[in-house]
Amino acid sequence: LETHSLTMPPPSTQPALSVHDISRNYNGFKALDGVSFDVAAGERVALMGPSGSGKSTLLNCVGGIDRPDSGAIEINGVRLNDLNGDQLANLRRSEVSTVFQFFHLLPTLSAAENVEFPLQLNGVASGERNERVAELLEQVGLTSRANALPDELSGGEMQRVALARALAPRPSLILADEPTGNLDSANGDAALDLIEALTERHGAALILVTHSDEATRICSRTLRLKDGRLQS
Ligand code: ADP
Repeated sequence: LETHSLTMPPPSTQPALSVHDISRNYNGFKALDGVSFDVAAGERVALMGPSGSGKSTLLNCVGGIDRPDSGAIEINGVRLNDLNGDQLANLRRSEVSTVFQFFHLLPTLSAAENVEFPLQLNGVASGERNERVAELLEQVGLTSRANALPDELSGGEMQRVALARALAPRPSLILADEPTGNLDSANGDAALDLIEALTERHGAALILVTHSDEATRICSRTLRLKDGRLQS
């Protein structure tokens, strides 16, 4: 065992996310202006800032649906700059998941089918899909609601389905955009607890965009954006 352990690779110290000096201009207006930060593997970080400060622009760049004009983004060691559109789409389906304020569940699919959907896109075999869906629905406490359609679920339940769906591809990073913004305080609080427990359990890092100081309780630190720049 001793000898074997010497040949094992060291545990990964690679950040889930590295953002190096990115800027994004819209017609000369700097929505992001020289933003740099890292998020360690499994780390949870809050992102706050007034409306218009660049939070969505930053999430869009990190999530691979927009590209910065300059600077570099690495997700789990992969440089987004080097990827073409198809490769970026692949990375978006496997390494980064987003949880939205308004859940964005597919209305004609059941809870279980919503969780399964990204696994179908990723070509996961049906046996493994079923296993992962069952396990995730159990972890969010919705086993008994597996066959319910979104409009038969409460807001809190819809957000739990969305969280299970986000975790299904086993991403290294979850982007949560005001995930409690459309929930009452009890459900919002429960959603935060679940996000904390499940990102921990799955080893996923988290960027939590929020206006609520209360939501930062599940994060180890808070990044503050103002006029496209990070405040130190
Ligand atoms: P936040 O999410 O913090 O409210 P945004 O990232 O949405 O901020 O916006 C940052 C700034 O960039 C705002 O001033 C906004 O008007 C501008 N902006 C965002 N997207 C665009 C766009 N597609 N075209 C022009 N300006 C934009």
